[in-house]
Amino acid sequence: MDSPAAGHDIREGRLFLEDPDLGGYYGLAIHIDRVLLKKDTPYQSLVVAEAGPLGRVLLLDGYIQLTDFDETGYHEMLVHVPMLTHPDPRRVLIIGGGDGGSLREALRHPGVERADLCEIDAEVMEASRRYFPGMARSFEDPRASIHIEDGIRFVREHPGSWDVILVDSSDPVGPAVGLFGEAFYRDLRRALRPGGVAVTQCESAFLFQDLIRDVFRFLPKIFPLAAYYTTLVPTYTSGVIGFAFCSLGPDPLITPPDPRRVEAIGELDYYTPLLHRAAFALPRRFLRLFPPQISDRQGRVDPLSAPAPP
Ligand code: SAM
Repeated sequence: MDSPAAGHDIREGRLFLEDPDLGGYYGLAIHIDRVLLKKDTPYQSLVVAEAGPLGRVLLLDGYIQLTDFDETGYHEMLVHVPMLTHPDPRRVLIIGGGDGGSLREALRHPGVERADLCEIDAEVMEASRRYFPGMARSFEDPRASIHIEDGIRFVREHPGSWDVILVDSSDPVGPAVGLFGEAFYRDLRRALRPGGVAVTQCESAFLFQDLIRDVFRFLPKIFPLAAYYTTLVPTYTSGVIGFAFCSLGPDPLITPPDPRRVEAIGELDYYTPLLHRAAFALPRRFLRLFPPQISDRQGRVDPLSAPAPP
C-alpha cells in the first residue's frame, strides 16, 4: 500500500495522515475517495472530501473537524449536557461552529427563543450549506441569528447576554488561539446571564495535557464551578475529546437531566441521560491534570449514590 499523504497533502485515492502527535509517533489516517472542495479562505485552508463509510469529511488546516460518521458524538455532548443542566436556557450563543451542527442541536430545545452563532470564517458556512445541508439548515431557523466576526471580540462586547454559551472551536491554531486564553474565559463569564453555563471544546486529555493543565489552572478562579467531561469521536486523534464545563451555578453532577426535557429534544444518536453524568467520570491519568478541587470531585464516589453526610 502507498504510504499516506501527510500534513496538508490531501489526495484522492490515498490515505491522508493528520500531522502526527506524540513526537511524530502517533497519527490518525483516513482514506480519501474524492475531494469535493479545496480552497484557502482568508483564515485557513478548507477541504471537504468523501471517505467511504465515514461519509463527508470537513478539514481545516489539515485537521479533521467532523465526519458524517461520528459528528453526533461531538455535537450532542457539547450541546445537550449544558442545555439540560441549565434549568431554562432561552438565549444561546455558539462561538465558531460554522458547520451548523451545534446550532442544529441547540435549536432542538423548544425553550430556546434566540440562538446567536458567531463564526469568523463565512466560507466554512458556505461549504456547509453546500456539502452538509443537514447541519446548515439550522442557519435558516427564524430563532437563529448569524454573526460573521471574531468570537473573542463578540463575547467581550455583549456582557450579561446568554444563558448558555457553547465554544465550538477548532484546535488552538490561527484565529482559535485566543479562545483558549484566560482573558477570553473572563469575558465568557461576563457574557453569561445569572446562573449561566458555558462549555468549551477543550481537547483530548491524552494529547493536550499542557493546554488542559493551563486552562484548569485559571478556570476555578473565574467560575464558581468548573469541570471537564469527555466524549468519543473516533475520527479525532486519540478517539476522545473533552470539554470544559464552566458554570455560575447549575451542577451536572448534582442535578440529573429532566426526562421530559430529554424527550422533547426528539431522536438522539449519542446522548443519553446516563452518559450525561458518566461523561464526568474520568480515568486517573486524566484526573492528574486538574487541581484538587476538580480532581477530588470528579474522581470520588458518585455524589448521587453516595450516602448523605450525617
Ligand atoms: N468540531 C470541531 C473540532 O473540534 O474540530 C470544531 C468545528 S467548527 C468547524 C470550528 C470553527 O471555529 C471553524 O469554522 C473556525 O473558523 C471557527 N473559529 C476559529 N476561531 C474563531 C474565532 N476566533 N471566532 C469565531 N470562530 C472561530
